[in-house]
Amino acid sequence: MRNIAFGYSTRCNVKCAHCVAADADPQNTKMELGRAKEIIVEMAEAGVQGISFTAGEPFIYLDDLCQMVRLCHQYGIYSRVVSNCSWAKTPELADECIARLKESGLSQLRMSYSRWHQENIPRQNIVNAAQSCKSCKNCKKIAMDYFISFVTDFSQQDDPFEQFLRDHNLIYFPEPVIFAGRAGAFERKPLRTDFQANCCPMNPYFAPTQDMYACCDAGSHFTRTNFFHLGNLKNSSIDQLFRQSETNSLYNHIRTMGISSIASYAGYKAREIVQYRKCELCEKMFNNPVMLARLLQEADAGLNEWHR
Ligand code: SF4
Ligand code: SF4
Repeated sequence: MRNIAFGYSTRCNVKCAHCVAADADPQNTKMELGRAKEIIVEMAEAGVQGISFTAGEPFIYLDDLCQMVRLCHQYGIYSRVVSNCSWAKTPELADECIARLKESGLSQLRMSYSRWHQENIPRQNIVNAAQSCKSCKNCKKIAMDYFISFVTDFSQQDDPFEQFLRDHNLIYFPEPVIFAGRAGAFERKPLRTDFQANCCPMNPYFAPTQDMYACCDAGSHFTRTNFFHLGNLKNSSIDQLFRQSETNSLYNHIRTMGISSIASYAGYKAREIVQYRKCELCEKMFNNPVMLARLLQEADAGLNEWHR
């Protein structure tokens, strides 16, 4: 099944201390709406079944967003918007925005929530937005699906934030903070974990520059090797870019064998492997030109037969 994270614009209205999207290039980029619509149609023709609007804050361009969501609905594509909910200051304002997206055919709202987001955005906004998804006065349509992505470093500091979600009976899922972008400077607490496979589904990311990456998180910032950069739509079709992602043997090992096994093949000790989080281990191997060249060469040979 082809799904993609769609970056219409990298512009955001807050500056979270943990933001992965913040990288060396501080310039905001944005697509032309007409071009974005052409690309969505091309994605539909290439068999894309799910588009997640992400990157900066998509609600900054709410009119454009509604048009793109409507187009997804027209082509039978499942659509999701990832938002910081800064727009849901009151129940009335939340209802207004959600009604527009519901009417455009949005499938799901995913709200980002964390102690870092909430330095800029009141927690009550999340409650207002969730309530509007369940039922809103402006829109008679049935409830819209939502979930809260609770970004956490699993420290005790996050307990009151999680309790707040429980107290308000909200649907949430804990997501480990990714130590990349601004969070790259965070202090790492020691990991206490089992030896996990660390398989990664690798959702592709389409950037406003029309570059496509095989990974929508830290991997799109591996600038030493550009390992996850699939190409640019100016030179290839959406279908070709997806095919590249689907047929690359090393990517497929990441999906099926998992990053821990690849690291074990590369010579890392089990004791070292459990000290790294998934994306960090990925960066250690795939953002290192020498190591990457070796793994690429062996992806269809030794690595294929490797069992831990
Ligand atoms: S984490 Fe999300 S809301 Fe926060 S600055 Fe980055 S894009 Fe904006
Ligand atoms: S583990 Fe690697 S491929 Fe998966 S999200 Fe992290 S950086 Fe991307």
